[in-house]
Amino acid sequence: APAADRSRRHSIDGCGVDGCGSGARPVFHIVVNLSTLLGLDNDPGFLDGHGIIDAATLRTMVVEAERSYLNTHTKQADRQPTRYTPSKKLINLVKAGELCCTFPGCNSPVWKADIDHTTPFDHRNPTQGGQTVLTNLKPLCRFHHRIKTFTSWQDYQDDLGHGWFQSPTGHEFHAAFFTGRTLFPGLIPHRDPDHPARASLDTARQKRITKLADDQRKWDEANPPPF
Ligand SMILES: [Zn+2]
Ligand SMILES: [Zn+2]
Repeated sequence: APAADRSRRHSIDGCGVDGCGSGARPVFHIVVNLSTLLGLDNDPGFLDGHGIIDAATLRTMVVEAERSYLNTHTKQADRQPTRYTPSKKLINLVKAGELCCTFPGCNSPVWKADIDHTTPFDHRNPTQGGQTVLTNLKPLCRFHHRIKTFTSWQDYQDDLGHGWFQSPTGHEFHAAFFTGRTLFPGLIPHRDPDHPARASLDTARQKRITKLADDQRKWDEANPPPF
């Protein structure tokens, strides 16, 4: 189901709606399924920076809103994988798919967030580095974008859009558990149940868990009590 991103009185750049960035006026963004706007269902929507809102309330709120419609077919949005800057459509898909900064525990509003290449883009050789595609992009607030860029936190992202982070101490954290893909399953990149991405995700995670347990055991053996 297509999701519409809605904004009135824009002051944030990059949301793709005309007039955005024109002056310091109040702004809010709502993500909602088109079917809900049309009254075909009563699924909840999401008010950026606030949380889930019910269908009746959001229909009232969007009456005079500017709307942009997001076609959830990711193939169209992924057409320029070797261009550093994502298209407006791709940015909106990334943001609607996450709804907050992706960093574990952060609920910083997504429409102000930076768009981060999980595997870094290679400016010298764009075909070699991380691609500008839905499965390699995620929103990070400026604070967590800096943490990712300038510290030894590591992050990963798989073909289904899940992200996870490894702290400098080796601890693993799942990225936000609740995302736009939870609320709007139409935003989940389509994959068959037996798609290799599912298996490779499980394998990769299992490998890291095993390695962490091994490291912990080695450390314990090398550092016996008393502490
Ligand atoms: Zn980045
Ligand atoms: Zn954050």
